[in-house]
Amino acid sequence: KNTDISSILAMVVELFRHQIDHKEICLVNQVPREMDMIWADENRMSQILFNLIGNAVKYTEKGTITISAEIINGMMRLAVEDTGIGIPEDRLDQVFEAFKQSGYSPEKEGGGTGLGLSITRQLVELHGGTIAVTSTLGKGTTFTFTMPLASGDNRLPCRDYGKNTGETEPFPQQV
Ligand code: ATP
Ligand code: MG
Repeated sequence: KNTDISSILAMVVELFRHQIDHKEICLVNQVPREMDMIWADENRMSQILFNLIGNAVKYTEKGTITISAEIINGMMRLAVEDTGIGIPEDRLDQVFEAFKQSGYSPEKEGGGTGLGLSITRQLVELHGGTIAVTSTLGKGTTFTFTMPLASGDNRLPCRDYGKNTGETEPFPQQV
C-alpha cells in the first residue's frame, strides 16, 4: 500500500509522542511541503522510520530531533538527525551489525536487542537504497537513507524538488 510520505511520518511520530513529550525533545519537521505528494510503500517506510526515530528518541534525553527529506536522482533521501549522546567513532561502522551496540549507554542499550539497525539496513538495501550514519560523541547522530519512490501509484513524475526552504513545519500536535 502506498501512502504519502508526510502521512507516514506523522503516523510514526505519533507512536513516540508520549516519550517525546516526557523528555525535553523538540521535534523539527523539515520535510518540504511538496513531499505531501510523494508516495512510498507504507510498510517498509514506516518500519525504517520507526527504528530510526525510535533510536533518536531513545538516545536523546534533551535536545532536538530533525527529520528532513529531499528527492535526488529519482530517489527519496531522508535524514533523522538528533542531538543525543552520539556514537564513539570506533563503533560507528559496527552499529548496523546484528546484536552490536556502541557500549556507550549500557542502561539504554539494555532495553534493546541491537537488532533494530541491522533490520533497518536490510530493509533499505532490499529495496535498492543505502543507509549511512555520521555521529559525534556527546553531540549527536544523523542517519541518512535513500529509498526509491513508489512506482505505479506515483502521482507525480520524479523530479528534483530542490533543497528544502529551511522553513520548518511543526508536526500536528495532539490536543
Ligand atoms: P533495538 O533497536 O533492537 O531495540 P538497540 O537500539 O540497542 O536495540 P540498534 O537500533 O540496532 O539497537 O542500534 C545499535 C546501537 O547503535 C545502539 O545500541 C546504540 O549503541 C547505537 N545507536 C543507534 N542509534 C543511535 C542514536 N540515534 N544515538 C546514539 N546511539 C545510537
Ligand atoms: Mg534501536
